[in-house]
Amino acid sequence: MAADGYMGKVLRVDLSTEKISTDALNKEWAKQFVGGKGLGARYLFEELKPGTDPMSPDNILSIWTGPLVGTLVPLTSRYVIVTKSPLTGTFLDSYAGGFFGPEMKYAGYDGVIIKGKAKKPVYLWLNDGKVEIRDAKNIWGKDTYKTEEIVRKETGEKMARVASIGQAGENLSLISSVTNDLTRNAGRGGTGAAFGAKNLKAVAARGTLGVEVPDMASLLKMTKEMIKTDVVGNPDHAGMVTDGTPILVDMSNDAGILPTRNWHDGTFEGHGGINSESIKTRVLVRKKACFDCAIACGSWSKVKAGAFSGAATEGPEYETLGLCGSNCGISNVEAVIKFVEDCDRVGLDSISAGNAVALAMDLYE
Ligand code: SF4
Repeated sequence: MAADGYMGKVLRVDLSTEKISTDALNKEWAKQFVGGKGLGARYLFEELKPGTDPMSPDNILSIWTGPLVGTLVPLTSRYVIVTKSPLTGTFLDSYAGGFFGPEMKYAGYDGVIIKGKAKKPVYLWLNDGKVEIRDAKNIWGKDTYKTEEIVRKETGEKMARVASIGQAGENLSLISSVTNDLTRNAGRGGTGAAFGAKNLKAVAARGTLGVEVPDMASLLKMTKEMIKTDVVGNPDHAGMVTDGTPILVDMSNDAGILPTRNWHDGTFEGHGGINSESIKTRVLVRKKACFDCAIACGSWSKVKAGAFSGAATEGPEYETLGLCGSNCGISNVEAVIKFVEDCDRVGLDSISAGNAVALAMDLYE
């Protein structure tokens, strides 16, 4: 492995033939198209035939990370799913934070390219350079929360990270997502349907291989400075540290751009019931961070009483508060939490789901 932040390996899995192989990462492309999105786009451009039906076995589903993922550098937890979108029929790059991206690298791979379609539901298990295609009979039909739990039990790895689909992806919903770490979603563009169309329930990873960087001492020094001046110490980021993205609810409302009642309005009289203050005073349990992130913009929130008592989720984040909240005329953060938890469990993109519900309410009225 070269000390350049890359693991130097791309895993290839053909689910139709069950062939598993490993290629050296194309370093020329890595230089030209730095990071997950660039690499994913370059490989897709090279290998996907024009006119391919996104739901067909010929579509290429790939998962990528960048050279900083898994290093000390903050805000670099993300992985990206790159494929031809089942929803739009065009290029799709859909991202999620949490811990899956770094774990996939520690398991040995910068990217995973999946082709074909399994004869029956399966999941992939990546563990320190070893790869298995496993029977998914115990998790097919289960929600994403249960899937993570069962996969950890089956692999015997409590620290395994799991990117999975729920019932929405299994049923090829065009607004289905891939969920990791319970509440982090590569949500846009129908990623869940891209998994489901291949009979792929999940990709799970656990690794202990380190990421090598050219000059650890310099990286450490730079990271410390960056955290002090650009991340936590930057006054422009103060709201993200204290409140996270929900701080945008009031700001958007003041600017007249908060999606409200199926986009009929840009201001919502009930915004005070779904803003960051309502989260902090009514449902916040603790702050939460993705891998190695000093900002920790996330929050674990739980409904304490009432009709939705016990419902819990991360956030909710601004876009979810807007689409599942104000856009549906909901001024109750507890109801939004229940909405989001249900979306995460079945593997639905909460932005698209909120939009669809708002449209249905509008049409009904
Ligand atoms: S905790 Fe927030 S700021 Fe940090 S990586 Fe995750 S989403 Fe980004």
